[in-house]
Parts: sequence; structure tokens; C-alpha cells
Amino acid sequence: MADDSLRAVFARLIRATGPISVAHFMAESNARYYSTRDPLGTAGDFITAPEVSQMFGEMIGLWLADIWIRAGKPQPVAYVEAGPGRGTLALDALRAAARHGLVPDVHFVETSPTLRGVQRQRFPQATWHDDFSTLPADRPLMVVGNEFLDALPVRQIVRMAEGWRERMIGWDAAGERLLPVAGTRPMDAAVPADRADAPEGTIIETCPAAAAVTADIAARLAAQGGVALWIDYGHAEPRDGSTLQAVRAQHKVDPFAHPGEADLTALVDFAALVPVIAAAGARCDGIVTQGEFLRSLGIEARAATLARHAPDHGPALARALARLVDPAEMGNLFKAMAFTAPHWPTSAAF
Ligand code: SAH
Repeated sequence: MADDSLRAVFARLIRATGPISVAHFMAESNARYYSTRDPLGTAGDFITAPEVSQMFGEMIGLWLADIWIRAGKPQPVAYVEAGPGRGTLALDALRAAARHGLVPDVHFVETSPTLRGVQRQRFPQATWHDDFSTLPADRPLMVVGNEFLDALPVRQIVRMAEGWRERMIGWDAAGERLLPVAGTRPMDAAVPADRADAPEGTIIETCPAAAAVTADIAARLAAQGGVALWIDYGHAEPRDGSTLQAVRAQHKVDPFAHPGEADLTALVDFAALVPVIAAAGARCDGIVTQGEFLRSLGIEARAATLARHAPDHGPALARALARLVDPAEMGNLFKAMAFTAPHWPTSAAF
């Protein structure tokens, strides 16, 4: 039987046509990874904020209800989640939002059949989409994505002595290991003028897919009304270098060693998305750290309330709160960015 591991598929492809781009490698690896497993939770490869505590989704639900009320409670309205994982965020957010009268129809943009199955158990009435193009066009959209953009493929360009080249993935001389190599085609035209003379070895990483998705949604908000919230690990200022990393069983591993078997992510360059939002006609409300976002929505008061009702859970709640907001944990590394229809009010916490 033919070896259908992704490593073997890449081996045949690279032997036949030469090295593949980092973006191609990352896109195929994550498509395989997410379609063949549920990677979330304590038994899985990594844990995300909604899986740490119900408080995370609840704060997002309150944030959504607040802007919806100030926008005049438009009906109908759609909740759209990009890459909803197990549906935990949606469950907690929509329960909190419903207490304030916000009961939207639910749309999930999800490519993994395995995770769609998990989501369907919690939201049998939801509508699934392969991408954003099929979302309803006749109502405001309230879009949420947590750790969605970081899974989208990045493109890398590396400065060599002879000029800028696309960073590709090929085999080492022995044909045993996948590793990054410089492509042969000159890529100088793709580099901003002020970076053209960067020192040899400099890597510039971009995420065209994140920009494209953000532009699509911003244009929808401008036309239909609504708000979008991206939460992800990333930076608010541009920076150089590869941020590609792989996590398996909650440990960092070589991103090229086990294609399709480890979660590949890259830091989100939020600053790069700001002009994209403006160009599509929407308004960026700002970029804040996850800690600032959750604190200004009252997560500490929520933790205190939960602890009063279930004193046994006090220590676990305190740990979960710290994990979400402390600067040394997820509080600073993760950022929240919101953008809105120009005719909608500014969202809270920005
Ligand atoms: N938001 C969830 C899951 C994060 S993992 C949480 O915070 O727990 C990334 C999610 O994005 C998974 O659901 C994965 O299947 C989905 N995903 C990855 N690439 C995607 C793509 N190109 N289109 C739609 N969904 C994608």
C-alpha cells in the first residue's frame, strides 16, 4: 500500500517538482492536521482560552450584547465564528448574550469535518460554511475568531547574498529531513522599499490569507453592519523573522519534522491588518492585550461571583483567571483586535 502520510506525499512532490513554499507546506500540514483529529483540551495537543474557563466566552458574549444593544438591537442578526474548535466559546458567549436579549442565528466557518462533528453535537441548528463567501448577506454579522488567524499559512521571504528569495521547504542532502531552503526565483519586487537592504538572513513573514479574510469581513461589515473580534497570539508592532512554530502534546517540536501531525502556527501581525480594514471601508476600534480586554469587561468580578457560588472551585477559578489575564501567561502575548461597520458604535474595551 502506498504511504499516504503527508511526509511521504511531500517527498514525492518535492522529488518531482522541487521545493515547495512555506505557505504551501503550512496550508497542507494544517489541513491534514485539523481534518484528522480534535487537537484541543487537556488530552490533546494544545489548550485554548475558551477551554481554560467559561469566563472567556462569557466576556465575549457580554461584549457582543453590549454593542448590539447600543446599535439599536438589529434583528435578524448572525453570530459567525471562524474556526470554532469544539464550539466551547460559542456556547459560553451565546449563553451570556441571551441573558441580554441577543439570540442570533449561528454560522460556523470550519473546514475540518472532525471538528464540525464535535460542533454539531452542541449546535445542531447551526449552519456551516467552507469560507466566508456564503455567509448571509441580508443582516448584520457579529464575527468572532479565537486562534483562527494563527493557523492560516504564512509566506516567508529571506534575504540571501544574491537578493531576496522565497523561503521553501526541501530535503537535506541525505534525503532524510525536510528543511527550509531558499528558492531560486528573485523575489525582490515583493519586498517593501525600506526593507530592501536588510542584512543577509533576514526573514520577512506575511500572512496573505489573514489579510484576505480580514478584508472580506471588513467589506461585509461596511455593507451589512456588525462587528468582528480577532483574538490571537501575535504582536501589535511589525517585526522581522520567522515565527512559525509547531506544538504537539503541549510541547514545541521542529515545525518541519512531522507534517500533518503537529499544529503549525505563526504569530499574527495585527498592525498589518489595520490598513486592510480601512481600505475595505470598516473602522478598526483598536488592538489591546487579552489581559486588558478581559479585565475591562469585568472578568475579575465574574471570577469572584463564580467563586462565591461554588467556593470549592475558588482555587481553580483563580488559576484559570491568572492563566487568561496575567502578563506572564496568556495576558500579554495574546491580543484582541476589533473592527466595526462605520455606522455602528465603537465596541467596548478599546
Ligand atoms: N477557536 C477554537 C479553535 C482554535 S484551533 C478555540 O479557541 O478553541 C483552529 C480552528 O480553526 C479549528 O477549528 C480549525 O479546524 C479551524 N481552521 C483552521 N484553518 C481553517 C481554515 N482555513 N478555514 C476554516 N477553519 C479553519
